[in-house]
Amino acid sequence: MHFLSTYQRIISRLLLVSSLVVTGAMADEVVISPIEANTTSNNVPTVGPSRPTNIVIMIGDGMGPAYTTAYRYYKDNPETEEIEQTVFDRLLVGMASTYPASVSGYVTDSAASATALSTGVKSYNGAIAVDTEKRPLTTLMERAKALGLSTGVAVTSQVNHATPAAFLAHNESRSNYIDIAQAYLTTDADVILGGGQQYFTPTLLEQFTAKGYQHISELSQLDSVHHPKVLGLFADVQLPWGINDKKAHKLSHMTQKALDLLSQNKHGFVLLVEGSLIDWAGHSNDIATAMGEMDEFAAAIEVVEQFVRQSKDTLMVVTADHNTGGLSVGAHDKYEWHPEVLHKVQASPDVIATRAIAAEDWQTITATLLGFTPSEVEYTQLQTARMQGNEPFAIALRKLIDIQSNTGWTSGGHTAMDVQVFAAGPGARLFSGHQDNVDIANKMFSLLPQSVQTP
Ligand code: MG
Ligand code: ZN
Repeated sequence: MHFLSTYQRIISRLLLVSSLVVTGAMADEVVISPIEANTTSNNVPTVGPSRPTNIVIMIGDGMGPAYTTAYRYYKDNPETEEIEQTVFDRLLVGMASTYPASVSGYVTDSAASATALSTGVKSYNGAIAVDTEKRPLTTLMERAKALGLSTGVAVTSQVNHATPAAFLAHNESRSNYIDIAQAYLTTDADVILGGGQQYFTPTLLEQFTAKGYQHISELSQLDSVHHPKVLGLFADVQLPWGINDKKAHKLSHMTQKALDLLSQNKHGFVLLVEGSLIDWAGHSNDIATAMGEMDEFAAAIEVVEQFVRQSKDTLMVVTADHNTGGLSVGAHDKYEWHPEVLHKVQASPDVIATRAIAAEDWQTITATLLGFTPSEVEYTQLQTARMQGNEPFAIALRKLIDIQSNTGWTSGGHTAMDVQVFAAGPGARLFSGHQDNVDIANKMFSLLPQSVQTP
């Protein structure tokens, strides 16, 4: 089925026109004086226009304040007395509430939150850029395209997962992966990078090629891409965990390439970059893997930060869609957290489990890859879990890492805590203080060009 029927296309057009009018009015209110707008969060004056040519929105999926806090201590150099600042500390400007439309209560999922961030409208959990009546909403990417800008996404999940989907497609359910992948054909997005090969059939790939897309499936092939459009699918579903290949920094490579390609349009671009798997590690209550994904995302943010410094006309806005896992930096009544434990973990617990289950001498392998030696009692517990299979064994390993590092979790799902907002570049000051996630979108809409950019 094709979700966007002719009727819905007309509705979508009407929404586009009506929201253009709304944004036109709002721009006067929210675009502050050039002097203020040209000041970064650290009050460092920058030279550049008050309205950005390019907007990069970066989403750490599930990356609540506990994650950026944990990451600061994880990155701390223990040799120095000071606790070094992270890129998050450097770019922090505000906070955002994330609640979905009232029909879904207070705790959002990634689909509703991404819909809020891409359209400025709250919807139900599961919604992909449709409202509570399941009508399509105009996305930032659609508006950008209509104005003559280029668009792109670079993510570590499958490219048709909830967050990027809500920027590029419309669907009543995030679970309709095949429909969403199909819908990407009509988005005209210039850069689509991430995982998800299994959702793109050979026929669909041919259709992309016919539309002028270069299709690649290895990260190394990015070097051979010199012009948009590109569809890069680098894994069957999600990309591998960062912790299992710490030096690869795949998201940074995709982000740098996306910036190179999209900046060929002198009228500007809108790019979404997502650290998708922070959330996945959070759902598994897997602190070692979560910190690996934070590293991946932080490196990508630094790539964009560098671009913002050099280009002067690019706004970057970084936020999270919600919190995952109820992560607690310290737990069990003890005033301690031990990130040094996490640095010694050599692989993600799921990989350690696979290797230890296959090995005769599983105890030695487990201790080596964990970076510490479990006690006799813990080995007995691990032995029981090992006989139950990969997932129970991985869960047992994560619990041991939690105990060693004194990390706590309250949920395998999401929590309703506010998230942080980070920004730099022209317009960055608009995002300071408290706001709602729909405000983030509306501010970005207001910063887009006010008329169609013609070549
Ligand atoms: Mg996501
Ligand atoms: Zn999640």
